[in-house]
Amino acid sequence: MNTKKYTSLSQIQSLINQNKLSCVDLAHYYLNQIQDNKHLNAILEVFDKELLAKASAVDSKLKNGTAGRLAGMFLAIKDNICYKGHKVSASSKIIENYEAIYTATALQRLLDEDVIIIGRCNCDEFAMGASNENSAFGPVKNAADQTKVPGGSSGGSAVAVQADLCLAALGSDTGGSIRQPAAFTGTIGLKPTYGRISRNGLLAYASSFDQIGPITSSVEDAALLTEIMAGKDDHDATSSAEPVTKYVFNNSVKYKVAFSKEAMESKGLEPEIRSAYLSVINRLKKEGHEVVEVSFPYLDYMVPCYYVLTTAEASSNLSRYSGILYGQRSKDAVDIDSTFKKSRSEGFGDEVKRRIMTGTFVLSADFYEAYYSKAQRVRRLIQNESKKIVNTYDFFLCPTTPSVAFDIGGEKSKDPIQMYLADIFTVQASLAGLPAISVPVKHQNKMPIGMHLMGSAFQEDKLLNIAQMIANYA
Ligand code: GLN
Repeated sequence: MNTKKYTSLSQIQSLINQNKLSCVDLAHYYLNQIQDNKHLNAILEVFDKELLAKASAVDSKLKNGTAGRLAGMFLAIKDNICYKGHKVSASSKIIENYEAIYTATALQRLLDEDVIIIGRCNCDEFAMGASNENSAFGPVKNAADQTKVPGGSSGGSAVAVQADLCLAALGSDTGGSIRQPAAFTGTIGLKPTYGRISRNGLLAYASSFDQIGPITSSVEDAALLTEIMAGKDDHDATSSAEPVTKYVFNNSVKYKVAFSKEAMESKGLEPEIRSAYLSVINRLKKEGHEVVEVSFPYLDYMVPCYYVLTTAEASSNLSRYSGILYGQRSKDAVDIDSTFKKSRSEGFGDEVKRRIMTGTFVLSADFYEAYYSKAQRVRRLIQNESKKIVNTYDFFLCPTTPSVAFDIGGEKSKDPIQMYLADIFTVQASLAGLPAISVPVKHQNKMPIGMHLMGSAFQEDKLLNIAQMIANYA
């Protein structure tokens, strides 16, 4: 049951056109929603001072016909995306009071179309986590059941959309951080192809994986946001010049869909997820798509490979938080050594420290060949095999997660390996650099379930098209 008042920008814009709604009304509506849902801890800072002025400026533009394509959209951003003049802390104490000095390219493109930013969302510290429990500012609660996690690391962004605190949100996804929280909250989450959206202004976790992407209530909004954010950016050498197409929906296309034999047979898959998976497969067949079981032999190698490579990249990326250039410096620092050691020891949380140490270890001279180099080669195998599947079929279908949202402070939270395995199905697209989306499907019990589709590079349009079909099954 959808209790959200607004679920798509087209719905909002049509109300605006009929003079039944204004951006100022919407600003008040969302501010009230945020006030009523503070206990969820989804939003760390609401940009309330500027919100009404911005809303009334967009209302004026709407009146005189100069408004951009996103007029009427209220967007929350993950606390690792730079917005000039606003704090960006990566939910970490080490840069708690850091203020962005420029705006991320992806965000600027949305601002140029008159999106209104409502605030910054809680997340796992430096986007490392799968439950949002690694935030220095406390866990986020799942709005469907407050004893459950919302997923991570973009948990605040997902709950902001789930609880109707904004129309859409931006997250970042390195190994599943948009898709897994989307699955746990019944929202739509898209991780674009690596290079589709500029990373300029996104605080780096693992640069060869990180992508910004949307979390929304409708597939059409995910398409619109992606289309506007996508495209070459001179400030990010890894952004692609591949042309951006306008995303159009066509529900009469029939696709070839591969589904994962290993996921279906996996012992770790909760029965209710398996049955949701089977229902989607059967429904796709009934609708005339060709659905085929395919074996992907590297399932067990993906999580270890992902964690070797991402911790290596993180250990390098996070070395800039030294207590000198950015953020917090320990009060007990007396010389250069103690500045580094004490500022980092006091400023970073446990999971971030664990990953910096793991990454430093896998990159160290004695172990580089055994871990980092080998993981790079495994990544290549995973990439080749994944590309083969999406070249033979249109999509690779999996559940987004092996379980529904788990307990805050439960078993997984005490065991990092268990927590890392929550990413088993999402890391494949990240290792392969391919686009993937999580779509909510019918579920018997209270907690939402998401299905995961991975497609060919730069074919977000196809991915969104099938996502729309599956979203309509729910
Ligand atoms: N849960 C994964 C991790 O902890 C994914 C995080 C992400 O995509 N940023 O690394």
